[in-house]
Amino acid sequence: MAGQLETYTTMRDKGATPEPFGAKKRRPRKTQPRFVVQEHHATALHWDFRLERDGVLVSWAVPKGPPVDPKTNHLAVHTEDHPLDYFDFEGEIPKGQYGGGKVILWDRGTYDEEEWSDTKVKVVLHGERLTGEYVLFKTKGKNWMMHRVDPPQDPAYEPMPEDLVPMLATTASDLPPRQRDWAFEFKWDGVRAIVYIDGGRARAQSRNLLDITGSYPELRALGEAAGSRRLVLDGELVVFDAQGRSDFGLLQQRMKLTGDAVRRLMTQYPVTYLVFDVLYADGRNTMPLPYAERRTILDGLDLNGAHWQTPPYFPGEGTAVRQASIDRGFEGIMAKRLDAAYYPGKRVDHWRKVKNVRRQEMVVGGWTRGEGARAGHLGSLLIGYYDEQGRLRYAGHVGTGFTSKTLLDLEKELKPLARKDSPFADPVPTSYAKKSTYVDPVLVAEIEFTEWTRDGKLRHPSFKGLRYDKPATDVVREEPA
Ligand code: MN
Repeated sequence: MAGQLETYTTMRDKGATPEPFGAKKRRPRKTQPRFVVQEHHATALHWDFRLERDGVLVSWAVPKGPPVDPKTNHLAVHTEDHPLDYFDFEGEIPKGQYGGGKVILWDRGTYDEEEWSDTKVKVVLHGERLTGEYVLFKTKGKNWMMHRVDPPQDPAYEPMPEDLVPMLATTASDLPPRQRDWAFEFKWDGVRAIVYIDGGRARAQSRNLLDITGSYPELRALGEAAGSRRLVLDGELVVFDAQGRSDFGLLQQRMKLTGDAVRRLMTQYPVTYLVFDVLYADGRNTMPLPYAERRTILDGLDLNGAHWQTPPYFPGEGTAVRQASIDRGFEGIMAKRLDAAYYPGKRVDHWRKVKNVRRQEMVVGGWTRGEGARAGHLGSLLIGYYDEQGRLRYAGHVGTGFTSKTLLDLEKELKPLARKDSPFADPVPTSYAKKSTYVDPVLVAEIEFTEWTRDGKLRHPSFKGLRYDKPATDVVREEPA
């Protein structure tokens, strides 16, 4: 690994990039060797780790950045030696040039060399961000691994949690008394998602812990914008309609798609991630903190970009927020106690949803054939929910709210699920039973309605869409009888 700048020079066009070309000569011996880390927003974000040695900067590109925890090693791709004056370089490499994109000085300092061979480099770093012992070892070809030898720098460091199930709200019919103890927010009509950001990469998980990153390429830029921050966020993925309302029906166009199909619909139905909570930030589990403190941390992250926003919250202002949500035709509002911690996977009373229109998920247990204009097609869905004993209770049938597209989609989904017997614990009224086809109760539909009847049916139900983010067995009656 003797210092060579030929590769560096042949890879770059002197007239077209602001990068330095090695005017600076070797520094006097006996000075402490230096290291630099540059955050490089190239086609793929990475951190360039460079060590001054033999008159050049020996370099590795580390896609996820230097590891903070000895338990996790990061890939480090050995790259061409860079000239010494690259030590101070920061700026914009023009698009189309080699490594096009922004370069930010991320850390600088000196290092002690402990070991140096063609396959292993062990150093102790004395930087502003990075201090401690690191080892780089060659695995195959240009690929090396970067390992932190010392314990995490921060003595209070906690590893990033995994597989968090979002905390859920209970349904309330009215605002809580003592509004000053609560924060109020608009309720968004989309898909809940926990987003994990590490090494500039964002990964999204749904309520049922499915990885849904591939369906929402918009999140890629959020990861890059977060840079080296390590975050776990809670929020809602939404599509806005022309009036600025989040519209679950529009989001449905995107939900099950991946790959090229997503890219085709990204312009038509762009998705925004609305972030309303932070569960982990840079080595700190924030879930035990009161909501007010978590919000302060979240607002400090300034997560506002083309496809992600931190919507405002309004402590103490329930009446005004509720009226604004009605005026704007929103689904409802959320009330969150300012002093309450975050309990993943729990449905808690200190988060409450107060809806303007009533809505809830229902399990599809069968369907009837249509009549008149819909003859030969689907007429209505038989719907129900699980009670405390785990029985599927019949809650009526829904025959409106379908578009010709959702009718066809539903028929396609329902046909393979057909079965002979009713999945409901209650008898289905004979007028429907005769023309019904029963199905395995696995599909979950979002239903809007006016109220629950005394005998446990939905009045004026209207179909809003199918949900793919929750298991049917989780569907319960949200408002107690
Ligand atoms: Mn680079």
